[in-house]
Amino acid sequence: MRFVPRFTDGQEFPHALGKIVCVGRNYADHARELDNPVPSEPLLLIKPATCAVPLEEPIDAPFTRGEVHYEVELALLVGEELSHATADEAERAIVGIGLGLDLTLRDLQTRLKEKGHPWETSKAFDGACPLSAFQPLSQVPNWSALVFTLEIDGEPRQRGEGADMLFPVPTLVAEMSRHFTLLPGDVVLTGTPAGVGPLSRGAELHFTLTGGLEIITHVVE
Ligand code: ZN
Repeated sequence: MRFVPRFTDGQEFPHALGKIVCVGRNYADHARELDNPVPSEPLLLIKPATCAVPLEEPIDAPFTRGEVHYEVELALLVGEELSHATADEAERAIVGIGLGLDLTLRDLQTRLKEKGHPWETSKAFDGACPLSAFQPLSQVPNWSALVFTLEIDGEPRQRGEGADMLFPVPTLVAEMSRHFTLLPGDVVLTGTPAGVGPLSRGAELHFTLTGGLEIITHVVE
């Protein structure tokens, strides 16, 4: 079944989800916690539309394949075609902001990385990208003031601030559009702050984002 992005007012976006373009290591503190160098240009990857499931629904993680790490990220809904866009054009093409959970099979990813193999199977499996509804944007927000949080079983785990991104939203989306044409219905994930870790069965997850988005869900037992 095709995933159609929705707005928080219940309206469906007129295009089905295309691809999800992600950036690795867009927060210096997260790069450090995984012992990765801080990059000088964004490390991009794509998750297919088949990864998307509603974040509001219980998370069915593939625990039989090893540790499943959560990474909460600011998600952007693209409303216009972007190719070799300027930062200004990129910024104006974003029609909604929400949250995405970039799920990663960390054991598998580590093994594949060690061998120098592609690690798609650790990031692009079905259900690997729970996506929230998007808060509609009538004007460009103050990106650096956006804050999102994740608590697990009542404990603060991740807190991201636009101001801490190594590549701010307009620059990041413009750079993405130089590698891959972005189309209406594509989603951009903007990287995760420090605090990633393994999900556990039955855990309760509580997400918030500036603008009033709040979601409480849980991991399937
Ligand atoms: Zn990520």
